[in-house]
Amino acid sequence: MLPPVVFSLDDINHALKHQFGYSSLRDGQAQVIESVYQSRDSLVLMPTGAGKSLCYQLPASLLPGVTIVISPLIALMKDQVDSLVRQGIGAAYINSTVDQQSTEQIFAGISQGQIKLLYLAPERLNNHYFMMCLTQLKISLFAVDEAHCISQWGHDFRPAYTNLKIVKENFPHVPMMALTATADVATRKDILAQLNLNDPYIYLGSFDRPNIRLTLAEKYYGDQQITRYIKKQKQDSGIIYCNSRWQVERLTEYLKGQGIDADAYHAGLDIALRNSVQDRFIKDKLQVVVATVAFGLGINKPNIRFVIHFEPPRTLESYYQEIGRAGRDGLPAEALILHDDKDVERIKKRISDGENEQRVNVEMQRFMAISGFVEAQICRRKVVLNYFAQFTKDACGNCDICLDPPSQFDATQVAQMVLSCVYRIEQQGDIKYVIDVLRGVKNEVIIKQGHDQVSTFGIGKDKTPGYWFSIIRQLIHLGYLQQDITQHSALMLTQASHAVLKAQEPLMLASPRLQNASYWRHDQAGNKSYDRQLFSKLRALRKTIAEAEDIAPYIVFNDATLSDMAKRQPTTPQAMLNVTGVGDTKLARYGSAFLVVIKEHLESLG
Ligand code: ADP
Ligand code: ZN
Repeated sequence: MLPPVVFSLDDINHALKHQFGYSSLRDGQAQVIESVYQSRDSLVLMPTGAGKSLCYQLPASLLPGVTIVISPLIALMKDQVDSLVRQGIGAAYINSTVDQQSTEQIFAGISQGQIKLLYLAPERLNNHYFMMCLTQLKISLFAVDEAHCISQWGHDFRPAYTNLKIVKENFPHVPMMALTATADVATRKDILAQLNLNDPYIYLGSFDRPNIRLTLAEKYYGDQQITRYIKKQKQDSGIIYCNSRWQVERLTEYLKGQGIDADAYHAGLDIALRNSVQDRFIKDKLQVVVATVAFGLGINKPNIRFVIHFEPPRTLESYYQEIGRAGRDGLPAEALILHDDKDVERIKKRISDGENEQRVNVEMQRFMAISGFVEAQICRRKVVLNYFAQFTKDACGNCDICLDPPSQFDATQVAQMVLSCVYRIEQQGDIKYVIDVLRGVKNEVIIKQGHDQVSTFGIGKDKTPGYWFSIIRQLIHLGYLQQDITQHSALMLTQASHAVLKAQEPLMLASPRLQNASYWRHDQAGNKSYDRQLFSKLRALRKTIAEAEDIAPYIVFNDATLSDMAKRQPTTPQAMLNVTGVGDTKLARYGSAFLVVIKEHLESLG
C-alpha cells in the first residue's frame, strides 16, 4: 500500500475554487476524495448529475502522478478532456483516433507532469505492449467510469470491461475508484468482484433526482400533445423515446412537418448519420431527438430540459435511466410519460406472446412495475424510489400527483352528456368521433352523417378534447360504455348506462387532470430570479465561442453557470470569479467577452 498522501483542506478548497470555480464540495464528494488520500479503493454510486467526475478529477489535479480514467466512449473522452483543459488541468486521451506520434507526445507530457489525467478505452488495456508502457509511468489513481458496463446483466455491457481485473494485477498498490449511476445490488456485486477492489470505501448516494419533475399525462392526440409541449419549451433541448424504429420515424416526420427542429435516432440508421444527429444535439444545433433506447449512453449533455416517453418504457430501471439524462446541470427539468391504456395492453400482449416461458415471466413482472407506476395515485417519486429500495416516506412536491392531487367530482351531468351523445349518433362513432360531436366540430363525416343536427352537437365545446377523453375512458373502465372492436371501436351503451341517463344514482368520477399537463417546469423556471433576457444574450455568445472552438457549448460554460451569471451580473473579473463554474483559467480565457455582454446589457437598460 502506498503511504497516504496528505493534502490539507486548504489545498482541496483552493483547487475547487480556482480550477473548477465551485464554492463547496457536494454530499459524498468530500468523503470519496478523502478515501483517495488514504490510498483506499472506492466504489461511488451516485445518480447522474450528482458530480461523480469531480471525485477523481480534483484529486488528480493535486496528486503527484497521473490519474488513468477508463471510459467506455470515445465521444465522452473528448468532451471531458476539452473541459479539463479549459479549466487549466492537463488532460489527454488515447484511443483509436490517436496516432502513434501523438501517443508518444502524450506519454512525454505525463512524464513531465503536465498531463494529470489520461482517458483510455478499456480495450487498450488488453494490449500487452501498452500495459508495459503504463507500468513505466507514475500512476496515482485509476478511475473506472460507467463501471456498470462490467455487468452482463445490464444493458450497457462492454466485454472489454470484464478484463479490467488485470489493472489490479499489474498495479496492486494504486488506489482504484469505480463509479456508476446504476443502483441495483447485482451490478454492485459484479463491480466489486470483477475489479477485485480491496476493502473499498463505498459511497451510496441518494438516487433521487429532485430537479426532475415526474409527470404523467393521458395520451389522446399524442402527436398534437407533443407538438404543443415542444412549442412551449422555446429553444430548450429534449429527447422523445419511442418503442420502435417505425414509431421514431413516423413521429419525427410529423414533428418536422409541424416546423419542429427534430431528428430521428435508432440502431437501424447509418452510423455516420447517427453520429451527426448526436453531435448536433450536443452542440445545441438540434433541439429534439426522437429515439429508441439505442440513444443514451454517452449523452453527457447537461442541459437536456425534458425527456418524453411517447410509449411506456419496458421497466422502471430503463425509465429511470432514460429520464436521468435530463437536468444533469441541476436546473429544473421534466420527465413526461404519455399514458394510454391501449399501449399498456399492447405491450403486455407482446410480452406474453414470447416463446421462452421463464423470460416471459420475468419481463411481465418487470413491466407490471411500470403499469403500477402509471396507475399510481400516490406521489410518483415515492413509487420509484421505494422500488429501488430507497425507502421514502415524504411526498416529493414535484410530480403531477403532488402538484395536482387527484380528486373526485359529481360527474352525473357530464356523463349524461356523453351517453346521450352516443345514443343520438346511434352508437356509430368511436371515442374521437364522439368528442368531435360533443365539441361541435363540423367535419366532412359528421356533416355527411347529419350528426351536426343532433341535440348533443356542440354541448361540450367549453371543455378540451383531453377532458372528454378522460371522462369517456373512465366511463369505459366503469362499465358505462363499451367499445365494439368489431365495429372500429364504436362506443356502445350498456345496461348500466341507463341508470346514469335517468339520473337514478349520482356518478362520481376522477377530475380530469390534463389541462395542467407539463407546462409547469416553465412556470417554475420563470420564478427564478435571473434576467432571462441577459441569459439568452450570454447563451448566444457561448454558442459563437463554441462554434469557433468546435466544442459543445456546455464546455465553455454550462447553463447553471450562465444563469448564475445572469443573476449576479458581474462587471469586474473579481466579481466574475464568484459565479459558480468560473475558475481562473476560464476567467482568463472567456471572462472579458462575457463581461462585455453583461456591461452592454446593463447600459441598454439605462
Ligand atoms: P455525473 O458524472 O455524476 O453525472 P458530473 O460530474 O457530470 O455528474 O457533474 C454534474 C454537474 O454538476 C456538472 O455540471 C458539474 O460541473 C457540476 N458539479 C459537480 N460538482 C460540483 C460542486 N461541488 N459544486 C457545483 N457544481 C458541481
Ligand atoms: Zn410527488
